[in-house]
Amino acid sequence: MPADWSLRPGFESAYEVPEAWQPPAGFQPCTQLEYARLGMITPQMQRVAEREPHLTAEQVRDEVAAGRMVIPANRQHLQYRLDPMCIGRASTTKINANMGASPISSGTDEEVEKLKWAERWGADTVMDLSTGGDLDACRDAIIRNSTVPIGTVPIYSMIIGRRIEQLNIQIVLECLEHQAQQGVDYFTIHAGVLQEHLPLVKDRLIGIVSRGGSLLAKWMIQHNSQNLMYTHWEDICDVLRRHDVTFSIGDGLRPGGLADATDAAQLAELSTLGELTERAWRKGVQVMIEGPGHVPLDQIEFNMKLQRRLCHGAPFYVLGPLVTDMFPGYDHITSCIGATSAAWHGASMLCYVTPKEHLGLPKKDDVKQGCIAYKIAAHAADVALGIPGSRDRDDELTRARAALNWERHFELSFDPDTARAYHDEDLDVDTDFCAMCGHDWCSVRISKEIQLFASGKAEHLQWEKAKVSAALTSEQQEILEKRGVLSPDEIHRLASKTRRTVGADTGKASCHSDYVDDEDARQIQLVQLSGPATQP
Ligand code: SF4
Repeated sequence: MPADWSLRPGFESAYEVPEAWQPPAGFQPCTQLEYARLGMITPQMQRVAEREPHLTAEQVRDEVAAGRMVIPANRQHLQYRLDPMCIGRASTTKINANMGASPISSGTDEEVEKLKWAERWGADTVMDLSTGGDLDACRDAIIRNSTVPIGTVPIYSMIIGRRIEQLNIQIVLECLEHQAQQGVDYFTIHAGVLQEHLPLVKDRLIGIVSRGGSLLAKWMIQHNSQNLMYTHWEDICDVLRRHDVTFSIGDGLRPGGLADATDAAQLAELSTLGELTERAWRKGVQVMIEGPGHVPLDQIEFNMKLQRRLCHGAPFYVLGPLVTDMFPGYDHITSCIGATSAAWHGASMLCYVTPKEHLGLPKKDDVKQGCIAYKIAAHAADVALGIPGSRDRDDELTRARAALNWERHFELSFDPDTARAYHDEDLDVDTDFCAMCGHDWCSVRISKEIQLFASGKAEHLQWEKAKVSAALTSEQQEILEKRGVLSPDEIHRLASKTRRTVGADTGKASCHSDYVDDEDARQIQLVQLSGPATQP
């Protein structure tokens, strides 16, 4: 068992000061945190700096050394396809997508497909929360196929085939060692739920909603002893250190409803999470902290700031939080509002919530909806925080919009297929207005005609010749089919149209008012749109 790092005399409480830490004699670094404390830049730090252009490799190293940033990169997973990334306040805000088979739904193939789907829609990490099927095979398949870090909640595997009261530290350590060897990049471990916290939940509306938290609470009650994850924390740290698995210290007492937010149980556990951070850092293990849950909007800032203080700046990884409880079916929206505020006030990673939250296992489209909602939250916070370069694409899209350059507009969109399909549902030519206002009311077109208005005049945004939108792709057709606004015949027409069908075979575009006069443009509106302009 390796000796621990210690704090130099005079720096006894300076956990977040890299220079305060001194290694034991004859020390060999093993984790990103340890390399960083020794002033070394690893290939993973280098890669993170490439992916975060506003940071240098030295800055990444310094943030990791201070514990404010983690690079979840299990040594085994690095042998496969993992592309190292970071989580921390100095970097862009990250999002996590949860997946995993349950005893009654889904299987390994479907979960791997969801993994690919989540990566496509921008998930920065993925958690495999499987509780059913072949957990081992599913985890292995997900790790081997992923380019993003994979997290797990190992207690789910620990109790497969046994009752919670049979759990002991040997089972815990063996399971952790096995999953670490498989290549899991971060573990959620609910070591902060203590015996003395349990009376604090008795007046809650919904008790303990964390699966790991409730299982360990039951274990403590049945054994009448302290949480074994807490008492054996140093042994657990040794396993994680060997493989450079990052802690995501779980919030087993997170609130499950607005009424339980920021209560004594949650705050007592948060204080313990700070203590566990200090103990893990003495072992050289990287740490992030998990957070609530369900929190009213006005309490989010307090929660983010309190975590930062109690946990010495370790990255905060929050689930949502949901800011209202009465919209099941729409909790990707209720939580995305809280997530935006959380990221603005200090969270580094946002765990997505899908429309299926509280209701069932997310399907492929739920994963997409959750990812998009959370990409919006993370990006909105990054723009507000002024992370250099984070607004560039917004501004470029605004320029394209101002130029009424629809193709560029869609190219820059996060989800081009949906944007294109929604546009073409009403008007399948790219012209100087859209169906929302119509020709005469299109303020962008009118502004474009005002010579002093500079937007949209940039040369690279002007069309060489007017564009005719291409036939819909199968993905775009599917989007319109789901919406159910157009008939199958109308969708088929959009999917099979040729340049001739949209009148573009005469050499120059007839659909763009840069090239045709207003009368012709109005004619297009008359033919393409059944009714008058829809909105002033
Ligand atoms: S018609 Fe209205 S919504 Fe469409 S581009 Fe013009 S101003 Fe924008």
